Amino acid sequence: MKKHRAVLLLCISLAAGGIWTAGEEMVPSFYRDSVMAMRIRNQAGEDADSDQAVKSGEDVDSGREDAGEGRDDTGTVGNDEGVSEEKDYIKWVEFDVTCEAMKRAYQYDLDTYGEDVHLNWVELLAVLGAKYGGDFSRYEEGDMEEIAKVLVSGEKTLQELTADMKYYQYYREAYGAVLDGMVGAYEVESLDKEKKSESKWKKVYGLKAFHPIAKTFPYSDYDDFGVSRTYGYRRNHLGHDMMGQVGTPVIAVESGYVAELGWNQYGGWRVGINSFDGKRYYYYAHLRQDRPYAQGLEKGAVVQAGDVIGYIGRTGYSKEENVNNIDEYHLHFGLQLIFDESQRDGNNEIWVSCYELVRFLYQHQSEVERDDGTKEWTRVGQMKDPEAVRYQKEHREDDGKDGGK
Ligand SMILES: [Zn+2]
Repeated sequence: MKKHRAVLLLCISLAAGGIWTAGEEMVPSFYRDSVMAMRIRNQAGEDADSDQAVKSGEDVDSGREDAGEGRDDTGTVGNDEGVSEEKDYIKWVEFDVTCEAMKRAYQYDLDTYGEDVHLNWVELLAVLGAKYGGDFSRYEEGDMEEIAKVLVSGEKTLQELTADMKYYQYYREAYGAVLDGMVGAYEVESLDKEKKSESKWKKVYGLKAFHPIAKTFPYSDYDDFGVSRTYGYRRNHLGHDMMGQVGTPVIAVESGYVAELGWNQYGGWRVGINSFDGKRYYYYAHLRQDRPYAQGLEKGAVVQAGDVIGYIGRTGYSKEENVNNIDEYHLHFGLQLIFDESQRDGNNEIWVSCYELVRFLYQHQSEVERDDGTKEWTRVGQMKDPEAVRYQKEHREDDGKDGGK
């Protein structure tokens, strides 16, 4: 424990340095908490001997609200075996980046696309994350402007700018785990019927990820991450609830493949989608009774960002299938980060707050249309995510079967 206190003192004295220069950072807001501090140090691979203390303190956020895949049977046992604390991966992330900061960083990224210095929005946010200790209530637009100016003018490279920033790499990896799959190059179906001669697909660069609720469908929400829940066992709400009408189409935020689909005691009819890079697990729960999912959706299916995957309902909180036990119709949307497979289930899960992210994604809602025959909603205009194309190709080569849907 002494060693640990010394690290804290060192960090506090570093933080007391005064006016910010490129190399100066705030101590991450959660660094003062001993458990979190050890998490970070373990992430840096420094502190193999604190094994026990980390284990006992690790439990703060267990109780994955509606998720709990496998939790019903296994409880909390059996997850820690063979996990070495010396492994070098991130153990904890708090994602407090505001919608405003994301919008600004994204705009810099778009504006400099194809320029000599292309600003990467996640890198801009990570520099600020390091500067603010992850606390974006400190965010000022001028700070980002300054960083952008230094980089665009060529005064400094990103490597030079962040060379003395002790936590930059941590924030780059942590924020990258949340955001890296959301902006990039992709193709959209051209809907202009006049231009038949032109290619059906149009190449674009920008926001690939979509808002979880289809365009024009009303919903309401508030920042509800971490509030306590009591069904089953005491736990925190590890997701974001969006209240809407029954049957409202639910949209895949990012492209990926269906990892879980079916009934879950907490989430009711739910679908879990893995991002292709394996870093994100998207969890959509409490879907509609009787007809929860988009037609043809099944485990292993590949979905494109913007696809309709299911419909809002109020199923869940029951061991019995297809039961409406949730008071209000809503979508529970959760985002889990996975840096190591040991974090997929149990006490080491990392769920991040999605409220600000969902606000950011509001600018990109998927337009849908209804088939009067099947009463199904589908997207208007398809999209081709290069990551999905790559995954489908590899998948086909792997098992010789038809990958995808
Ligand atoms: Zn919820």
